[in-house]
Amino acid sequence: MSIVLRDAAIIDGVSDRARPRTSVVIERDTIAEITGSGSIRRDDAQVIDLSGFTLLPGLIDAHAHLGLVYDFSAEGDPGSVSAAQIAGWTFENCELCLDAGFTTVRDMCGVDGGLVRAIESGAVRGPRVFPSAAAIVQTGGHGNISGPFCEANHFFALPGLVQMIAICDGPDAVRKQARLNFRRGATQLKAFVSGGVVSTTDRLEDTQLTIDELRAAVEEAAARDTYVSGHAHNVRSIRNGIEAGLACFEHGTMLDEATAKQMAKAGAALDPTIAVCHLMATEWKQWGLPESVVPRVAGCEAMMGDAVRMAEKAGVLMGSGSDLLGRRQNRRGLEIVLKGKLISPMRAIQCATMGNARIMRQEERLGSIEAGKLADVIAVKGDPLEEPELFDDPSRIVLVIKGGRIEKNTLV
Ligand SMILES: [Zn+2]
Repeated sequence: MSIVLRDAAIIDGVSDRARPRTSVVIERDTIAEITGSGSIRRDDAQVIDLSGFTLLPGLIDAHAHLGLVYDFSAEGDPGSVSAAQIAGWTFENCELCLDAGFTTVRDMCGVDGGLVRAIESGAVRGPRVFPSAAAIVQTGGHGNISGPFCEANHFFALPGLVQMIAICDGPDAVRKQARLNFRRGATQLKAFVSGGVVSTTDRLEDTQLTIDELRAAVEEAAARDTYVSGHAHNVRSIRNGIEAGLACFEHGTMLDEATAKQMAKAGAALDPTIAVCHLMATEWKQWGLPESVVPRVAGCEAMMGDAVRMAEKAGVLMGSGSDLLGRRQNRRGLEIVLKGKLISPMRAIQCATMGNARIMRQEERLGSIEAGKLADVIAVKGDPLEEPELFDDPSRIVLVIKGGRIEKNTLV
């Protein structure tokens, strides 16, 4: 059965201009044809009239944490929620994600291949997930979030569902965890190479993991034809990461011009996460975070804005990540709204589609509306270039098609 999406304005993820009154034919899971108005004939097709709507590639969030739904505070009792609650809240996040128009996420620590299987089996409605499994973290680093005097790292490790971090000291420990993550279905690795906002015993300015430790992760990823992305707020950590061969950096909050140029030269990508900086100051409680994050996040949004402009000017490959945490993650599209104000709505959309697909090495299959690609497309009412705020309102996403399957349709 084929689907004809008729007479939409199309933002294809690659071109700098929208294309008016264009129709798209989907056959099975693939975009078969893109053509001007009126010229499409398909006898057995389901036809959806999209005049007055804009069709875009399925959005991609390159920094999701679908499974980080529990209490992060060192004071929080990790035994106070059940595995069933964690699973339920994670699946709810998957639905919210898809209904907001995000057909793909790269999960930047937490869930593993278990969630991928649950979604692929049809048991859970959710996006295409590229999991990182547990983030590779040093003792005392970002993510080692239990109280400093706690004997054990008491955070959840539920293989097949969620594990936020794995503490690894020394290249051999990193190598072993990398191999375990891949065994559990990770499609890339995440390493924390600097301090973080949700941290209790470090500073944003700190570097974490040694170059030798990072090299072990890069070697293991290369053996699987994939890559390592580093959580990095400061430039020293980005430089260490480049030296070790990291392909991507998350956040990049304190980026400077020299480091942006170095990233562009090394072919390393930046995945800024502006929405989390914007929301964390007000939503930390709902996200289960300790109040100590509030002063740590101050100033991050302004610094990240500068980083985005610098990276754009230097020609760094740029993605788009929300970094939402907690339960009921329903502001995923805010990242595109905020990025649009810094570089332009069209560039923000491109970062969240083709930019992310390139970073994830999925540009042959995902990220744009082009014949031969997987049929991941969404429709919105109106013109998102004029009114980018609509991305922050899931009710404005009227049609979501993932792999040729209609996952949401409020037009009927
Ligand atoms: Zn994150």
